[in-house]
Amino acid sequence: MQAERWILAGLLTAFGMLAALAAVALWPHAPSAVAAQFFPAAFLERSAAYSRGAYLSFALRTAVQLGLLAWIAFSGLAERWGERALRLCGGRPVLAAVLFAVGLALLLSLVDAPFAYWRGFYWEHRFGLSTQPAAAWWADQAKGWAIGAALQAVVFAALFFLIVRLPHAWWVPASALLAAGLWLLTLLSPVVIDPLFYRFRPLPPSPLKTTLLDMASRAGVPARDVWVADASRRTQRVNAYVTGSGPTRRIVLYDTLLQKYDDAQVELVVAHEIGHLAEAHIAKGVALGAAGGVLGLWLLARFLRGLWERGILSPLPHPAAVAWILLLSSLGTLSTMPLQNAISRQFERQADAISFRLAPHPEAAVSLERRLALSNLADVDPQPYVEWLLFTHPPQLERLLAAEAAARRAGGAKSK
Ligand SMILES: [Zn+2]
Repeated sequence: MQAERWILAGLLTAFGMLAALAAVALWPHAPSAVAAQFFPAAFLERSAAYSRGAYLSFALRTAVQLGLLAWIAFSGLAERWGERALRLCGGRPVLAAVLFAVGLALLLSLVDAPFAYWRGFYWEHRFGLSTQPAAAWWADQAKGWAIGAALQAVVFAALFFLIVRLPHAWWVPASALLAAGLWLLTLLSPVVIDPLFYRFRPLPPSPLKTTLLDMASRAGVPARDVWVADASRRTQRVNAYVTGSGPTRRIVLYDTLLQKYDDAQVELVVAHEIGHLAEAHIAKGVALGAAGGVLGLWLLARFLRGLWERGILSPLPHPAAVAWILLLSSLGTLSTMPLQNAISRQFERQADAISFRLAPHPEAAVSLERRLALSNLADVDPQPYVEWLLFTHPPQLERLLAAEAAARRAGGAKSK
């Protein structure tokens, strides 16, 4: 089959997936009896309303972005804009590709802006999750767009540099470069990107901090420090995460977690993050991303060649390829999302299991999972399709039941 037909088939599949998400989100979904046993009906109703908006907005935004890219690529606009970029850059293809890529990134951001505002500002405020004033929210958005455009410029500069020099085998060094880039981004984002959005301070010395560092060394992942992010300036949400690699590796807690949760619960949250470190989930994620990158770039090279042979795309290194590359990578991201999320959920289950063994008070896990769900208005018991497509973590009800089973086992072990 011809390249453009494969791409059209991919687009139809993607729109089908998104339409199915919208349909599932709108379909009335009564909470299960188990969910009703742990959560008040008013909460389940509220979280269902909040989640419905989130899912619909995801479906719509993704469809609009894909549709716009497809239109630019298939209508011939990409060829014309690429030609203009080449003229503006005095015929230098690498520079023209960077110009086209940054322009396209800004156009896509601009089109997405109203959706981003609705989802990120209006909807979060309506449900009392966001504490951020509008001006600060827009400043965050602008920073995000600038970072995205800058990354896009770097990626396309490197890609077209290789395409010019190795017209047939560019995807091989590009794969190596992508792996290096992923690793560099992981290494640097805690010290370069995260501080653009949050201020971090070390957790002051306390018995809690001693317990946290002690858990890390018992798990074989000694941590020098635990960091606190001033997330309360933005959100009521509660969160913690591990980030970085080697010298930049760190455990970060939202200050909202420390303000609202008791020590036994914070210990469990950090034990979960230590679980990620003990299982080297960040490194595994980078390795999987790099492996996916090799496959993706090989496929990309084949598609671009196919489009050129069919006379749809000017021969590389024509900058029109930028639009096709963005379209194909968006399709790749969406179609592999279920797999990526399944792997992520498996990592989260492993980290949970470690946290039950590591934390001094595993029995607090049930109340913790319940509170986390309440704080974050979690869709505790989503429809299977939504979980399959979008959930990076197991649903909160599943985590709560796992916590309950672990607490029962721990109790049983003690009474023996
Ligand atoms: Zn986790």
